[in-house]
Amino acid sequence: MNTTDYKGLRHELGAFRHHVSSFFSRITVKKEGRATGWGFGSDTVNVLSEFTETQEEERAMAARTYLRERFDAGLAWITGPREYGGAGLTPDHDAVYREVERAFELPDKDYTVVGTEILAPVLLSHGTEKAKISYLPAIHRGEQLVCQLFSEPDAGSDLAAVVTSALFDGTDWRVTGTKVWSSGASQADLGVILARTDSEVPRHRGLTMFLVDMHQEGIEVRPIRQMTGGSSFYEVWLDDVCIPGWHILGARETGWSVALEMLLLERAALGADRLPIGDYLARLLATAQQFGRIDSPQVRARLIDVLIKSRLLELTNGRLTTLSVDGIPGPEMAMLKLLLTQSLLAISEAASLLVGPRLVADSGAWGTYAWSQFVLGTPGMRIGGGTDEILKNLLAERVLNLPREPTSSVS
Ligand SMILES: Cc1cc2nc3c(=O)[nH]c(=O)nc-3n(C[C@H](O)[C@H](O)[C@H](O)COP(=O)(O)OP(=O)(O)OC[C@H]3O[C@@H](n4cnc5c(N)ncnc54)[C@H](O)[C@@H]3O)c2cc1C
Repeated sequence: MNTTDYKGLRHELGAFRHHVSSFFSRITVKKEGRATGWGFGSDTVNVLSEFTETQEEERAMAARTYLRERFDAGLAWITGPREYGGAGLTPDHDAVYREVERAFELPDKDYTVVGTEILAPVLLSHGTEKAKISYLPAIHRGEQLVCQLFSEPDAGSDLAAVVTSALFDGTDWRVTGTKVWSSGASQADLGVILARTDSEVPRHRGLTMFLVDMHQEGIEVRPIRQMTGGSSFYEVWLDDVCIPGWHILGARETGWSVALEMLLLERAALGADRLPIGDYLARLLATAQQFGRIDSPQVRARLIDVLIKSRLLELTNGRLTTLSVDGIPGPEMAMLKLLLTQSLLAISEAASLLVGPRLVADSGAWGTYAWSQFVLGTPGMRIGGGTDEILKNLLAERVLNLPREPTSSVS
């Protein structure tokens, strides 16, 4: 790149930064400058959603509105092709966008992440032309909220054990089975479902990935009650559901590799800026000050532990996001999700130490009993998107090239 090109690019990125910043300033507020400290802001502190069905509808609506506004401002899917609803800009623009976005308060990503960050890149590389045109712009405009239908009662970590069946009738696929732990399924318009299309071959080779319209006949969505009290996960029952041929993702019986790509994207999305770790730390500090514990060596050690883990998460996030190939991250992304759960555990432990019995007995005091939601929700984060043990296996085998663990399963 010569000096003129470089100056031109700098100028363009500067103008783009201004545009992104103006957009966010118009629709929301900056994180910095917001009042923090003991007693400021919402008393809610959790990692899993705790909402009523009406609140879930409102949150889904807020997510749709946000996506629509972002799309209209030309800021949806910065590097995505224009013909499919992307902004058609460069990775440099994307980096600027993410940097500016991080500085603002945004609606939580529960309802947007599966569609825009997990499905979209996979649909772009594996979807039929009709599916790309029909769904990619709609996902980024907030018209299609997406849920992931992978896990089943007997297929979680061992995802190749999926038994939901899809049979081809010459034109369409007929799908029957039960999925569990499907986050956000009650508000989703589109599902992405892993199903068995051949039971005669070794397990991994008999799976196919599809898109499924969640509003059609034959689909029943039932809430699952969490130990935190909320119901943000669902069972999805499918009874002879019709999936048109063009809803296939990838070729027949390549569902396993499509699923692996989606799981890598999920881990990247979960680890990267998904939760406001800095806010949790600020709240812990305020709590320590409020209770006169800030000089306790035990408390300080816990707080430093949180600080170190959250900083590691931030730095690893910055490093790993540059390593993806064609938008699909590598197995090292498992580190991000592991670091996230380690940070959450450290926060949980520090909060439990600080608020003590107030964690289980609600005295009505701000910032005390509220932590119970966080502490009860953290174990779930160690499971969703791949359990800690599975991620450690993945890092050992695929990143460190250690010998594979022995398995009795047919593969
Ligand atoms: C917050 C959250 C959100 C979720 N969202 C979705 C969703 O949207 N869509 C969806 O399809 N699913 C979702 N899930 C389900 C999730 O993917 C599964 O719970 C997860 O894959 C684990 O499967 P399982 O629950 O069947 O546990 P199991 O696989 O039965 O695991 C039980 C225990 O055994 C350990 N274990 C299993 N195999 C091994 C091994 N080979 N080596 C060492 N240890 C092992 C595990 O680490 C775990 O501790 C979600 C789960 C949670 C908690």
